[in-house]
Amino acid sequence: MNTPLFKTYNQNQILLLPPSLEELIAANHPVRVVNEVINSIDIDAIIKKYKGGGTTSYHPCMLLKALVYAYLNNVYSSRKIEAALKENIHFMWLAGMSTPDHHTINRFRSERLTDILKEIFAQIVLLLVESGHVSLKEVYTDGTKIEANANRYTFVWGNAIKASKERIKKQLHELWAYTQAVAAEEMDDDTPPDFDKIDSEKVKQTIEKIDAALKDKPVNKSLKQKLNYAKKNWPANLEKYKQQEQILGERNSYSKTDPDATFMRLKEDHMKNGQLKPGYNLQISTHNQIVTNYTIHQTTNDTNTLEEHLQSFEQLYNENPEMVITDAGFGSDENYQALEQRGIEAYVKYNYFDKEQKQGYLENHPFHYRNLHYNEGKDIFICPMGQAMHCIGSFITKNKNGHQKQIKKYQAHNCNGCPLRGACHKQKTNRIIEVNHRLRKYKQRVRENLISEKGKAYRKQRPCDVEPVFANIKCNKNFRRFILRSKPKVEIEVGLVLLAHNLSKIAA
Ligand code: SF4
Repeated sequence: MNTPLFKTYNQNQILLLPPSLEELIAANHPVRVVNEVINSIDIDAIIKKYKGGGTTSYHPCMLLKALVYAYLNNVYSSRKIEAALKENIHFMWLAGMSTPDHHTINRFRSERLTDILKEIFAQIVLLLVESGHVSLKEVYTDGTKIEANANRYTFVWGNAIKASKERIKKQLHELWAYTQAVAAEEMDDDTPPDFDKIDSEKVKQTIEKIDAALKDKPVNKSLKQKLNYAKKNWPANLEKYKQQEQILGERNSYSKTDPDATFMRLKEDHMKNGQLKPGYNLQISTHNQIVTNYTIHQTTNDTNTLEEHLQSFEQLYNENPEMVITDAGFGSDENYQALEQRGIEAYVKYNYFDKEQKQGYLENHPFHYRNLHYNEGKDIFICPMGQAMHCIGSFITKNKNGHQKQIKKYQAHNCNGCPLRGACHKQKTNRIIEVNHRLRKYKQRVRENLISEKGKAYRKQRPCDVEPVFANIKCNKNFRRFILRSKPKVEIEVGLVLLAHNLSKIAA
């Protein structure tokens, strides 16, 4: 049997020259990309956040590099970053052997980068534009929901508040009516309070009046108990509801552990029970799978997010993209108008665009309102039997964002005895259709865009451009839940994740 041979192993070997970390970092390692890119941007905005005086601080350039490189390596915890800065030669080289602790790292991330990270993000995107990696002319926009760092079971629901307030109103009304019946004299001259709108002070005063009126009256035990309960709880509860409604704003829910997080349906449903979870709605715009813009929203659907997202793009780059490509989740009158006002060409599907594209869809639905001829001069639609449908009125609707749209109603003259009636409509009256002409025209234009050769190419590219970014951050980067709480901090976190994603694309 041969004697095994081993390579020399000597932990106490003395080196003539101390090793340099620089030599140990491969020439094309991603850490060099992070170093080079952060070195080439202007970080004055971060430096201005330091008050000056006192003891020395770790350099923000070093801390930013360490954070971005940590996010590039799926390290999100400040304690793990602290450890990496002492153990990992890439981190040690990047940080120039500085060893900030996790408090410093966390404070830098959640305080110093507030309102600044997006500007830094944009500077890096502009570098990528210069180097030809990405273009700001065309953007693919889509959204995903990411779970908040919040308890899944402690929540406040707007509907529950409304129901509780209604219950208080009803019971207060009953108490008032009872008191008027048994203590009419004591309640004399008292006009009943307006129970439609109640607040803590009004309820407190009303209960005090009722209590005073019933003071010497023989009232049954359960009513006395109800009155005592009301006195003790209702004013305080109403005050609490008022504060909760302020936090809710336009939302219907929020988490008690992160009040900025809204309960929404997330794709990640490990319990497979469709349970709503606290989360944030992340919207991104991409080109060549590089993220050019991101915004965090508290709404549960994508439709109402586009205007704010476009505003953010304009603020970052002082220009609008030339074209925006999205899926059908964004096809609304409000969004089409926002795109038109900004001079952006819309490649934004509306909800039944895909159905329409199926062979023979419109031919098989001859009564669909799109098949009705519209005579703009006379403002009439012509129904399949050739009857003129005249305008019988209009109304204005307004959504949560304050966007208004005018809906016009058109009615057929006489459907009685029409042989097509069964197939045409199920209304009891002569057929009425409701039309938003502005939206009708937008859809016409968008349809032409989408079915053009350019539109077909964009539609083909969209799922390969923006959606892989979500797959990358959620599956490869394992970023499925925020670490920080509150919208401003979540914005920082997501900015770092997307910055790391962009750098990993050019480092690859
Ligand atoms: S049912 Fe009324 S609207 Fe429909 S085709 Fe007949 S006449 Fe026209």
